[in-house]
Amino acid sequence: MTDLIEFDRQHLWHPYTSMVDPLPAYHVVGAEGVELTLADGRKLIDGMASWWCVIHGYNRPELNAAITEQLEKMAHVMFGGLTHEPAVGLAERLIGMSPPGLEQVFLSDSGSIAVEVAIKMAIQYWGAKGRPEKSRLLTVEGAYHGDTFGAMSVCDPVNGMHERFTSVLPQHVFAPRPEARPGESLTDQDRGIRALFVEHHEELAAVIVEPLVQGAGGMWFYSVAYLQLLRELCDEFDVLLILDEIATGFGRTGELFACQHANRSPDIMCLGKAMTGGYLTQAATLTNTKVAQGLSEDGGVLMHGPTFMANPLSCAVACASIDLLLQSDWQGSVKAIESQLATELGAYRDHPAVEDVRTFGAIGVIQTSAPVPVADLQEIFVDEGVWIRPFSDLIYLMPPYVISASQLTRLTQAMGKALDSLIVA
Ligand SMILES: *Cc1c(COP(=O)(O)O)cnc(C)c1O
Repeated sequence: MTDLIEFDRQHLWHPYTSMVDPLPAYHVVGAEGVELTLADGRKLIDGMASWWCVIHGYNRPELNAAITEQLEKMAHVMFGGLTHEPAVGLAERLIGMSPPGLEQVFLSDSGSIAVEVAIKMAIQYWGAKGRPEKSRLLTVEGAYHGDTFGAMSVCDPVNGMHERFTSVLPQHVFAPRPEARPGESLTDQDRGIRALFVEHHEELAAVIVEPLVQGAGGMWFYSVAYLQLLRELCDEFDVLLILDEIATGFGRTGELFACQHANRSPDIMCLGKAMTGGYLTQAATLTNTKVAQGLSEDGGVLMHGPTFMANPLSCAVACASIDLLLQSDWQGSVKAIESQLATELGAYRDHPAVEDVRTFGAIGVIQTSAPVPVADLQEIFVDEGVWIRPFSDLIYLMPPYVISASQLTRLTQAMGKALDSLIVA
């Protein structure tokens, strides 16, 4: 076992870590229900749903069966010139469950690529309309849309990855982070985004935001009124609206898609993460017919086509995961998690290490007064039998929907221990 950890340390990059001084990695050998099993036999309750994907828990017989049944037929075929039932079944399901108007589906292999495709669609759309100057994006600070170049260019310009890549990233238009929290009315600063439409609309292809929940860019929740304002301004100024529902899609916020809280549909929607229940990588970019038809008005085609587009195994397990979700009382589960998080994390509001506590759907966030020592907290969490991965000044939970109340309490109690350690230190 020490050999494996040592080899990993010397040769394997992990997400956002250095090869020179990597954060420790724990050796996991299995996962079942909401628990990970480490090589030394310890079991950890997973508060992360493996970065927000594993909504149904690990090792679900229904999802295992979907993959093995598909495997007997074909693991993969190219999607150029061929089609198959898993792809069509997935597109049918996505269109059926999505906000009204979204009718065309581009399947791709990861969230970042779904965002790249969305950006290309918006730019091609205006090009085909004879408006090639409409090629910039308007977005908000504090966002996260992925790690590829197009996606990076609309991540938060300070905490995102701009500094390292400034010279090669396209320069887009940024508004301040939405200020009004859920339930609050818009602030003057929020309404000020109108000025950016007035100034830039002739060069804007689209607005891109994460609806209501800014995830990896700071775990921030904002008001439906802001999203409604964006939809209005996009209509008024002839700008497309791209919603990145990669983190929020498939029920996480208490609606299947976060934009449904606001009763608004985007022109383009990006999906990923929970689509396969965390089994395989699969993403999608959905559009309305206006965009799908408009972008080919000049006879052009959408310029994208990944090798593993519409992989049958991942499409099959995505279909099974969506069926499992829709057959379950996911809304009841998310509500129960939401109220338990509000109570149990709310109790830490006055803790001396805490700056803010916020909860929304099955997401619970503690913002600390200073960035946390990730490796130290990770050790405390593992000792407490839980898996929570903080970043920056944020300790948060996004558990599988199938977590029990007592398991969730173990997670929130461990967060209390971690907060206490920050005071002693
Ligand atoms: C995770 C995430 C992405 C990127 O998805 P990958 O599959 O990691 O490429 C994009 N947008 C949002 C909102 C995300 O949370």
